[in-house]
Amino acid sequence: MPDSGGKESIMSARFSRRGRILAAAVLVLMVAGAAAAQAGTSSASAILAKLARRAAFAQFVEDFWPVAKRAGIRRGVYVRALRGISPDPRVLRLLDRQPEFSTPIWTYLEKRVSAQRIAAGRARARRHARLLGAVERRYGVNGRIVLAIWGMETSYGGYTGKMSVIRSLATLAYRGRKRKYGRSQLIAALKILQHGDISVAGMKGSWAGAMGQTQFIPTTYGAYAVDFDGDGRRDIWKSTADALASTANYLAKRGWKAGRPWGWEVILPRSFDFRLSGFGRARSVRWWMKQGLRPAAAKRFHALDAQAWLLLPAGHKGPAFLVTRNFRAILAYNNSIAYGLAVGHLADRIGGGGPIRGKWPVRTRMLSRAERIELQKRLARQGFYRGAFRGHIGPVTRAAVRRYQHTAGLPADGFVSREILNHLRKRR
Ligand code: CA
Repeated sequence: MPDSGGKESIMSARFSRRGRILAAAVLVLMVAGAAAAQAGTSSASAILAKLARRAAFAQFVEDFWPVAKRAGIRRGVYVRALRGISPDPRVLRLLDRQPEFSTPIWTYLEKRVSAQRIAAGRARARRHARLLGAVERRYGVNGRIVLAIWGMETSYGGYTGKMSVIRSLATLAYRGRKRKYGRSQLIAALKILQHGDISVAGMKGSWAGAMGQTQFIPTTYGAYAVDFDGDGRRDIWKSTADALASTANYLAKRGWKAGRPWGWEVILPRSFDFRLSGFGRARSVRWWMKQGLRPAAAKRFHALDAQAWLLLPAGHKGPAFLVTRNFRAILAYNNSIAYGLAVGHLADRIGGGGPIRGKWPVRTRMLSRAERIELQKRLARQGFYRGAFRGHIGPVTRAAVRRYQHTAGLPADGFVSREILNHLRKRR
């Protein structure tokens, strides 16, 4: 390790001296505060509380050092990164945020795949044609998909987040329900600093530590970021070449197969067993063709041997999509069907494709969190569901809904709606 023992111990001494000074200051203020409190001053107790919080955080930073050290972080890097940092209250507020209603997929797609984003994507495709071609040759990932992810994550590098990644992650590591995540990401972030790819000040991102134009969290950066422009640094903040190549590398490593589509919007035959939908057993595109599926826009399917799943993100009345393993690779970025479809659809639109043809059931009312929990509890009572009662609708809940629908003689599309909750309420 380049740091000499002498230098390290000086750093260490300076660091813990700061801690001692702070502790002494808190002690003095506690005495002053007690006196002020007796005099009935509330602002003094507020100052006191603030100082106590600061001291507790300084203690956390000191306690976390052995963990960082074991991970190979040098003391100097640790001290420079965490010096003078306090917990970020905005991070804690965002952490506790639990929206009452989830956004319907049609609203999400409308907002995320806007006319403006499509137009900007087409302009970027022209401007970065050579780079995208080079990235596609190297990693085998469709350039339009890379563009679409770039557009979805940061509006093509337009908004990459302004929060200090180290401060955000230190806050998450310090307290709240994402402490484990915060700690592992903080270590990974410190490794990036130690490697010299970016400065502490330049390491900006989201409240949850997603960084730069690709919005990689530090562990993803560590595993997948690449230096594509060859300047020796993996700069996903300022280098478009590094950012786009890093995204392509990530998808390639997560199973993207060259020359295959992400999927298609499809038209289903008149009578169809909806139990075949969802991320259950994959079947070849050829098999799906034999069931009577046809592409909604393209003339014919290709990659007939590719394994694929049928998704009905808004139930049997809404649009249907046949998706390949490449779609699952996109989900590595963000494990949400709405996100994956937004990326795939935006990529198609950048390539000149038209809007989704199926009709979204826009009048469907989404369930509130309380109603979603009620749904899970009712499904459990009927023996269809064994997951947690948190109101999160994922594959487990959807599979339970599908089983229930089948038993009740309803189209088994797994779509969570008002209708299905009302149906369950009538069952005793
Ligand atoms: Ca670079």
